[in-house]
Amino acid sequence: MADNQGSTDLPRCQCGFDRTHGLVRPERHYSTLAMMMWIVGGAGTRPKSVDYRCPRCNTLIETVTDRAEMLKFC
Ligand SMILES: [Zn+2]
Repeated sequence: MADNQGSTDLPRCQCGFDRTHGLVRPERHYSTLAMMMWIVGGAGTRPKSVDYRCPRCNTLIETVTDRAEMLKFC
């Protein structure tokens, strides 16, 4: 499998993509408060959650709400 990039047991869609796949884009979701802080101050806003959706089959592969993961999106 050419697509196998060493990922282990992450959730996959029917195309076999997981959230680490290059085609899969994160969709960031912010709380209203975080959004207002972002507009006003633009500082240190962390998403509330990030959805990973497959661009090919439009399946929601995984929703990440883990704090450590969110920090990557600051
Ligand atoms: Zn897919």
